[in-house]
Amino acid sequence: MATAPEEKKKAGRVAIPQKVQNQLWARAAGRCEFRGCNKILFTDDLTKLKDNLSVISHIIAYEKDGPRGHETLSDQLKIDITNLMLTCKDHGKIIDSKEYEEKYSVELLREYKKEHEDRIKLLTGVLEDFKTHVLLFFAPIGGRTFNIDQNQIFQALHPRYPSAEYPYSIDLTDFCKVETKEGWPFLCQTIDEKFKDIFKNGANRKDFHHISIFALAPIPLLVYLGSLIGDISNVDLYQTHRSTDKWTWKDDSEDDGDFYQISGPEKHNAAEMTAIVISISGDADKDNIRGILGGDCNLYEIRAAKPGLDFLSSKAKLKALSLAYRELLKDIRCINGHSTEIHLFCAAPAPVSVECGRAFLPKCDPPIKVYDFIGKDGGFVYALTINEHANG
Ligand SMILES: [Zn+2]
Repeated sequence: MATAPEEKKKAGRVAIPQKVQNQLWARAAGRCEFRGCNKILFTDDLTKLKDNLSVISHIIAYEKDGPRGHETLSDQLKIDITNLMLTCKDHGKIIDSKEYEEKYSVELLREYKKEHEDRIKLLTGVLEDFKTHVLLFFAPIGGRTFNIDQNQIFQALHPRYPSAEYPYSIDLTDFCKVETKEGWPFLCQTIDEKFKDIFKNGANRKDFHHISIFALAPIPLLVYLGSLIGDISNVDLYQTHRSTDKWTWKDDSEDDGDFYQISGPEKHNAAEMTAIVISISGDADKDNIRGILGGDCNLYEIRAAKPGLDFLSSKAKLKALSLAYRELLKDIRCINGHSTEIHLFCAAPAPVSVECGRAFLPKCDPPIKVYDFIGKDGGFVYALTINEHANG
């Protein structure tokens, strides 16, 4: 930053070190700190020429007989940032004038400075908090492939904004029709590799303070992705909504009430298998599930008040599901202990499936067997296991 013009003019004035000047510029965000002015000091409004249009003014003058000068403080604070204000030329002139000394007291100017710098700190802080890392996750469903318009991402994210021009992407579009017994491990391995590329084996996970996920893929892969992401980062999940054909969630305020019913076996039988059933986009066929696991399995279900493809319309409903699901897992941990594996059957939209994978805890939960739904005739079919190496 060039020395402010006033710096050059006044003989006898101690030069303000460049470091202090830079700091003051940063704190003021390059704008006049005089209350109500806020003028940008690095571009001329009229000509748009880039120049340094600032003045650095002293609250307590650098000479004891200057404006608001002081016997000892004038010397002590002459290059102290707390005593300096970045201003435009007009307001610098007022501050540096003996004539207005009484009108603009030390206390008042300190107030101006504090107000301005606090505001800048607040505004820039808020923006930082709204930054998110966007992750796209696509895999064909029954051979059908997907893509997403970048504008839709921006719309859905608002008021958040993406951390980079291009989102991170785990795109399995080229792997069609591998949703087979042999295909799942290959897909998981591919997701693993791409995930590690992005998150560098977790070494830079702390930089991913907030992640926004736009996903369309078969349910077992969504659960698998969720298990990789886990509960560490703050995550927002998105899906396309049939009614609007967009990724933007509906306004939360429309939704309140009891969204889900949770049910479980009358008595948990330790000898039998445990199933968690999620019925949200449709009613999962529990006869089919009992057929797979045995009629006496311990079957827990979270069921939407009205299961259907349009049910999950708002973030509020997703949050309620997430809480209900975690509560259920807690209960099952208490009853089930850590020993028996859990079988997971989801008839649910993408965000719920990812949530289901995220909520399992590698150290507390057993291996989770995840099933794919292959249509009314085929029912549920085992696909893959997450948390596989739990319990050693
Ligand atoms: Zn000004």
